Amino acid sequence: MDFSRFKKTQKHVVQLLENSYKKNRLVHGYLFEGAKGTLKLEAAYYLASLLMCTGDNKPCGECLECQRIKKGIHPRIFYIEPIQDTIRKEQIDDLEREFSRKSLEEGVRVFIIKDIEKATLSASNSLLKFLEEMGDDNYGILLTEALPNVLSTIKSRMQIISFSKVDRQEIIDEYINKGIDKEIARVLSRITNDPNEGLQMINDGKILDIIDLVKKCSESIVLKKRTFLTFYEESKFLFENNDKKYHQLFIDILILITNDRLYKILGQDEEITFKETIEKYPLEDDYQKVFKQLEKMIEAKGRLKYNINLDLMYMQMFVEIMR
Ligand SMILES: [Zn+2]
Repeated sequence: MDFSRFKKTQKHVVQLLENSYKKNRLVHGYLFEGAKGTLKLEAAYYLASLLMCTGDNKPCGECLECQRIKKGIHPRIFYIEPIQDTIRKEQIDDLEREFSRKSLEEGVRVFIIKDIEKATLSASNSLLKFLEEMGDDNYGILLTEALPNVLSTIKSRMQIISFSKVDRQEIIDEYINKGIDKEIARVLSRITNDPNEGLQMINDGKILDIIDLVKKCSESIVLKKRTFLTFYEESKFLFENNDKKYHQLFIDILILITNDRLYKILGQDEEITFKETIEKYPLEDDYQKVFKQLEKMIEAKGRLKYNINLDLMYMQMFVEIMR
């Protein structure tokens, strides 16, 4: 766990937590809310470090407690996330059992629950009961990307801290500093708010191939070539495993570049993600036509959710686009 980005991008949260700690005003239940990529989990571990650190300048990052937190192996921090998109009552019950057990180590205990809005009603009720009975040395931190969906009974029990929106240019700069091509950096910043996730995607391979395939298909659409053939010849890698997420990404990025063509026609150049690629296209002026193409892509994206024949879906999409 690395806190440097969190400390840089969420200064008001750092300050709030540190001041509360110094003035002995930390509460036992926090709800961290903010968009994906706003580093709420890092903040939760930072708060745990503040509570557990035995060094002078808390959190020192050096003491045994800080080290164990950084490595993600602290035995008194309990982390829960949804299983199959749901937080179940059994997970909360397990947590409660851990907390009621006399642990081998004395001291502060912290639990962190990601995506608390995905808790079932019975899980939420167990959690509320647990929060009420929690001892003085125990702290709970709940995280959410969807505050309106969190039960109001839970919200009223916690101190809510809102995280700042992510600054897209900052993310783009971070990629560029790591030696990533400007256009790729802009595309990644549209796919995820979290630069670490973006870098991970590059390491996993595929994403660069997907972006390349999108560019080839888009060019083929603009030049009115036989786009399905281009796709068919170049897309083998997309079908290598049975993972729909790559198809999802392909269509999302195809939609992105098609939106860019619309921005170009409208003269809103500052909105364009694929600047370098779009510049090379011949001038287009038929907004309606590009808009219809975009609609076909969005329809195809909708169909991806179902159990469909992907070959057929792509063929249909490209045929309709070129019509
Ligand atoms: Zn420390």
